[in-house]
Amino acid sequence: MGQSFSSTLLKQELEKIFVSQQKNQQGHPATYIPELAKANRDHFSLALVTTQGEVFAFGDKEVHFTMQSTSKPFLYSLALKTKGPAFVHSKVGVEPTGEAFNSIIELEEKSHRPFNPMINSGAIATTSLIAGDSTDEKFIAIQSHFQELAGKSLELDEKVYLSEKATAHRNRAISYLMKYFNVLEEDIEETLDVYFRQCSLLVTSVDLAMMAATLANKGRQPQTGKQVLSPEEVSRTLSLMFTCGMYDSAGEWAFNVGLPAKSGVSGAVFAVVPGKFGIAGFSPNIDDKGHSYRVSEAIKEFSKILNLSIFS
Ligand code: GLN
Repeated sequence: MGQSFSSTLLKQELEKIFVSQQKNQQGHPATYIPELAKANRDHFSLALVTTQGEVFAFGDKEVHFTMQSTSKPFLYSLALKTKGPAFVHSKVGVEPTGEAFNSIIELEEKSHRPFNPMINSGAIATTSLIAGDSTDEKFIAIQSHFQELAGKSLELDEKVYLSEKATAHRNRAISYLMKYFNVLEEDIEETLDVYFRQCSLLVTSVDLAMMAATLANKGRQPQTGKQVLSPEEVSRTLSLMFTCGMYDSAGEWAFNVGLPAKSGVSGAVFAVVPGKFGIAGFSPNIDDKGHSYRVSEAIKEFSKILNLSIFS
């Protein structure tokens, strides 16, 4: 499967890019979730985890941040595991939108399904498919799945969760529309509560790179050795990350970076190099599409230098 890279090379190149991106001051923390606006603009970390479980990390690697939309691929993978692809895709499509992550025009014209599980409407729909008799049970199912992918326990950021819950009028509007079209069968507020909570799970860039490395390793967690997802579940997840993970810049990302990736408005971005490694980073200064400037640039640069595009 293509070229293999020495640990020394990966570490060296990552460090160089970290140093050069540290100067990048572009962008600002997200403000539409009030608690996220308080983020420290200086925080910056990059991490890489290989499919053998080797870890390289630079910068603020101890700093935790909320996953936000970087949770969407993992959430989708749990929906697949819970309900199977046929049922999941009767509720959510597989087409990129060319629209922002929180677009209100997120439902397909005939089926009224959200276009894909990587945007808010699609992730709210996949949240509603997670098994459990209560919101707590559903949230714990998601948290446990993420923990298996990360190989460690993950805590909730209560402040960010409550801040989003109090201000999420747009996500509520999208959910009411889905309820009207019967795409959302569960209770709206209960589904949103679970969705907000899983968006507010805390990770470090090493944790996120570890979760990405599990995807790179066909679903087997590189350190615990547990087969968390099947290779089929992983390949569906990666396909959708590739075409839809970066929203209205997914095309540009595919063209310039050539890797399945996902961003979140907290300033997290991760990408997967199948068979080799996962890479992730955090810096809260985001662009107008919701992607961290420093981390997107870093991954783009890293891919260019090491020729990582899946088509290379
Ligand atoms: N929790 C955020 C929202 O629903 C996630 C969006 C994102 O990270 N792009 O708006």
